[in-house]
Amino acid sequence: MSVLERLTSEDAIALEDKFGAHNYHPLPVVLHKGEGVFLWDVEGKKYYDFLSAYSAVNQGHCHPKIVGALTRQAQVLTLTSRAFYNDVLGKFEKYATETFGYDKLLPMNTGAEAVETAIKICRKWAYEKKGIDENEAEIVVCNNNFHGRTTTIISFSNDPIARKNFGPYTSGFIKIEYDNLQALQDVLENNANVAGFLVEPIQGEAGVFVPSEGYLKTAKALCEKHNVLFIADEVQTGIARTGRLLATCGNCSCSDKHCSGTPEVKADILILGKALSGGVFPVSAVLANDSIMGVIRPGNHGSTFGGNPIACAVAIAALEVVKEEDLAENADTLGNVFRKELQRYIATSHIVKGVRGKGLLNAILINDTEDSSTAWDICLALKENGLLAKPTHGNIIRFAPPLVMDKEQLMDCVQIITKTLKAFEK
Ligand SMILES: *Cc1c(COP(=O)(O)O)cnc(C)c1O
Repeated sequence: MSVLERLTSEDAIALEDKFGAHNYHPLPVVLHKGEGVFLWDVEGKKYYDFLSAYSAVNQGHCHPKIVGALTRQAQVLTLTSRAFYNDVLGKFEKYATETFGYDKLLPMNTGAEAVETAIKICRKWAYEKKGIDENEAEIVVCNNNFHGRTTTIISFSNDPIARKNFGPYTSGFIKIEYDNLQALQDVLENNANVAGFLVEPIQGEAGVFVPSEGYLKTAKALCEKHNVLFIADEVQTGIARTGRLLATCGNCSCSDKHCSGTPEVKADILILGKALSGGVFPVSAVLANDSIMGVIRPGNHGSTFGGNPIACAVAIAALEVVKEEDLAENADTLGNVFRKELQRYIATSHIVKGVRGKGLLNAILINDTEDSSTAWDICLALKENGLLAKPTHGNIIRFAPPLVMDKEQLMDCVQIITKTLKAFEK
């Protein structure tokens, strides 16, 4: 079969089904092209993207500036490994550390790798700086977390599907309830070996759980009091998705819309991925100040592709787009419109219980049992009506369009969503 041969949707699905491992359950749509907030399937049908590749494509599909950086760099130098220096990595490190306000950056490729890196840095810091006995460090994590798919990360997941029959598991993690400050305080007061608290500022995969006002700020203060590193996994929430450059920026009232000053909560270790490259290339990073990052010395950690010139050129462009196009501000404004419009519909709805979220990371809660297929069926109907979204855990549908959407497009989408939901009201 020639790669130039155009497949039908049916052909493409059959190929993946026969030759690919079945580790996903995709919506039956085969995409061929993307531009901005739109996607097209192989038959040419056009859709609004309301997932943005799990918030990787915040800057919109095939953003010309980011793709331009990719193709330009790809023709000059693609990979050197870190055995040698390259002339793009330092520029990226400078730009990103200045943007987010940290001394140092460690580049990786995927989100899970960056989480793994943060865990390693935290543990090493615990033994060399905090003085915890070797192999005794504990990292506190939250129930219903999602931090990726490696063996260590699924070791502290409580999702049976992600976990079962993948043991033995990595030890050294303590699980507490999310959005529960008392639970955090208890674990910190009763365990001198806690090195870090790893947390998502909003739990995305779990169904867009927004913690109570002040949760992150108080959690950070508790960590400080006990000399515990506050590790923010902003792989999904970061890069303007929630209406601020970072979700940990919170409601800080600074007047500079491209602020790189002190956010409401400044994580000791910040984990970024996904939209760090605008979905163009796998780029992730861990940021921290010298007192923490300094524990990593030559040979302690690495990645063949981490910090490669293409990744660095792409990431600089992707971050520039976020600033140049005021994507955080747009996400904030449109998010408020979206929730308000949906709330109005939900007031009269039997099928939807509520909408929640921040910026353009939102979800609706379907009024049906956890194991019913209603959310999936609604997503199939949304697809028919020209909008692509996917259920998360339970009967929850996440709505996360690219942040380059304009208000007219958003209202068009609200129209599609409410029209689709109406057909399920019985
Ligand atoms: C997606 C995600 C990850 C993992 O990123 P990958 O690139 O898929 O490895 C980690 N943490 C959070 C919060 C995520 O949403």
